[in-house]
Amino acid sequence: MDVIRTKPHRGWIEVITGSMFSGKSEELIRRLRRAQIARQHVQIFKPLVDDRFCESHIVSHSDMRMASQNVRRSDDLATRVDDDTDVVGIDEGQFFDTGLPAVCNALANRGKRVIVAGLDQDYLGRPFDPMPQLLAIAEYITKTLAICVVCGEPANHTQRLVDSSDRVLVGASGLYEARCRHCFDPSLAAAPVEPV
Ligand code: ADP
Ligand code: ZN
Repeated sequence: MDVIRTKPHRGWIEVITGSMFSGKSEELIRRLRRAQIARQHVQIFKPLVDDRFCESHIVSHSDMRMASQNVRRSDDLATRVDDDTDVVGIDEGQFFDTGLPAVCNALANRGKRVIVAGLDQDYLGRPFDPMPQLLAIAEYITKTLAICVVCGEPANHTQRLVDSSDRVLVGASGLYEARCRHCFDPSLAAAPVEPV
């Protein structure tokens, strides 16, 4: 029996990863816009936890934005991807459950180009699941770096500036800044806040 393949062997996974402010969302948006310009069918998702800027868009710190769908879990995402979708964009991958790598794998096996942006480390510099597992299975990896706001070196760390031991503390300016390995100080996040 002949099998008719409309989109043969096209699927793969791309991961864009690095610290906060390193340009992950900008790079994700750049790739998704180019796909849309080429009239490919693009679907964009983000986890519901991240509502810091806008409910239904992925937004960069430089205010680039694209409409997106909010999903609570990776299996919600899997069921929302249409058969005729060519490209699946996912922002804030680190806020998804551990099922995300398997969902991305299944989508790539269905012929989708899957692009995931997310933090590779948390505020203490620990690998941020499920990004390490995604990095292991991705065909293409882009590591983005910010600029250290203390010394100007390439910044691979997200410095938390407030006293909190919650792994997920959503926000940006005032709460976090980009720092290099020498200026990064995880103990700052646990230090008592000085009275003003
Ligand atoms: P990410 O998704 O990695 O958090 P974004 O793509 O949202 O990053 O934002 C990148 C933008 O953040 C930069 O183009 C720049 O305008 C801004 N920015 C703020 N602080 C820094 C910094 N320390 N180094 C580089 N860019 C920064
Ligand atoms: Zn530095």
